[in-house]
Amino acid sequence: MTSTLQAWCSAWTPQDTRSVSDWASDHVTIPGSARARKFDPMASPWLLEPLQYFGDNRVREQVLIMPTGAGKTTIFDVCIPHAIAENPGSILLAMQTDPDAREHMEDRLMPILKACLPLDPMLSTINRHAARKDAIIFPHMSLYCGGANKNNFQRKSVRYVFLDEAWLIKHGLIEEARARTHNRWNSRVVIVSQGGSEHIILGNERRSTELHEAWMRTDRRELAMVCPDCQALSQWSWKHLLYDNADGEIDERAVSESARYRCPECMTEFADRPDIRRQLSSTSTYIVTNPNALKGHHGWHAPAMAMSHERWGDLALGWVRAQAAMRTGDIEPLRIFVTKRLAEFWKEADDAPDIVLGGSGYTIGDYMGGELIDNEAHRFCAIDRQRDHFWVAVRAYRHDGSSKLLYFNKSLTIEAVRDVQTRYKVIDDFTVEDAGHMPTEVYADCARFGWIAFFGDSVDGYEHLRRGGQPVKKFFSPIKKAMSPNGKIVRYLRWSNEKVKDILFNLLARRGAAFDAPDDIDDLAQKEAERYSQQIRSEVKRDVVNATTKAIAQRYVKTRRHNHAVDCEAMTLVLALIKGLVGQSIETAE
Ligand SMILES: [Zn+2]
Repeated sequence: MTSTLQAWCSAWTPQDTRSVSDWASDHVTIPGSARARKFDPMASPWLLEPLQYFGDNRVREQVLIMPTGAGKTTIFDVCIPHAIAENPGSILLAMQTDPDAREHMEDRLMPILKACLPLDPMLSTINRHAARKDAIIFPHMSLYCGGANKNNFQRKSVRYVFLDEAWLIKHGLIEEARARTHNRWNSRVVIVSQGGSEHIILGNERRSTELHEAWMRTDRRELAMVCPDCQALSQWSWKHLLYDNADGEIDERAVSESARYRCPECMTEFADRPDIRRQLSSTSTYIVTNPNALKGHHGWHAPAMAMSHERWGDLALGWVRAQAAMRTGDIEPLRIFVTKRLAEFWKEADDAPDIVLGGSGYTIGDYMGGELIDNEAHRFCAIDRQRDHFWVAVRAYRHDGSSKLLYFNKSLTIEAVRDVQTRYKVIDDFTVEDAGHMPTEVYADCARFGWIAFFGDSVDGYEHLRRGGQPVKKFFSPIKKAMSPNGKIVRYLRWSNEKVKDILFNLLARRGAAFDAPDDIDDLAQKEAERYSQQIRSEVKRDVVNATTKAIAQRYVKTRRHNHAVDCEAMTLVLALIKGLVGQSIETAE
């Protein structure tokens, strides 16, 4: 018997049947900057169940979707030495890039393996050259550690595949890595990640990401709080995290200091204190939410507020700031919060239609004297009032719902706006001004010129009473009257932002009646960002979370600062709806 084989045999102690985390608390030492410490299972209780499942050979794939700061690397720290010592088979550990992998091997994995007593006999006998920065070649198995790229996956055949930060892995490579197990009966794939995107666009096709697919196949275990007061089990959810914030301005201190978590069953509110968070965290348990999982596929998800080291006040602040950014059209902070802190998948809008412009065969000059379009029914003028300027659109509609934009540009004074209206011969009853931002000024304009004030609204419809019949729901309210600041009666109306914009974007995508714009419309803009063609592409429909109810709904959100063309066009469309020029089908008779 060679010495290597002898050493190897001495390593063949009976398999340790204790749970993986118990084993690790004896044998795994985590290298730290100050002092090394033994693995402490209770430091991250949300990892206990995934670790326990690692010890079960019936498990095929484990998917952990957890926030930043959840100690996800602990999974590799514990499972890799355990696999080498107790349940050997070759291992592939894929980190983000090759340098990341080398650093991990050098600074973390090697020190852990060297400090792990049961691995002593194996490590001491291997050739010095068999321990490299990208691999350790044991007599009975190999451990490969590299970046998640095709090179590292080629020609390897392993029992275990570990994938770190899988949300960053290039599409196709998760399957490539999975294939490295060659479907061994006892193979294991462990995928660790924060939340990622639900979809990816490949070519022109919208597909589920590999990470999302992997997660959907699992039993999708959600971490649940056990209420110390009523013993009810409830999935940790952002909607149960409460904070106080006065209307209007964000009071960061108030948000941070008032954060608390509420049991949805007995409504007990738990204070944001380390001891309370620790208690709730350590007693939390996973509940299976997908009983139809693929056999052997298990998934675990936990959000940051379930982790005792995370101050709820900090999380509430992050949320409030993300919401504030979203109101100005910047959705990125919310995406980051959702994927990194809540560790949820991010769903991109699937119905942002391709907007088709150009080729309409007419120019602004053709109608600038107030000329009618062929078969014109009505023309409308819509004004979007800003603090010190106005955006004005004039569009003429035919009875079949088709229409031509005649004018869209910025005006610096209300007199200039009035001039556009007059030049294009739009009657006062068909001239409307958006009153959302500056209602006082808009009421004054409307009182002066006989225009109608328009309010875009988040509701889906308004009831109209039909003479002697059932009430009917429309996307705009009946016209109402209000008193302007100077005592004159002003007409105003509300319209459904989401429903009207649904119609608008369908028309813009050429799904419906022709919705034309002059071929030279962009020439009027002074800056590129102010062009009609840019502005009309300034909103997309996305999943957003309601700030108060936390319910997810699809809403149009700004993707560019100048979205005035969208608002103006939506208002001309409201008028076309009122006049019955655009589809009866979109009136929902409920
Ligand atoms: Zn309770």
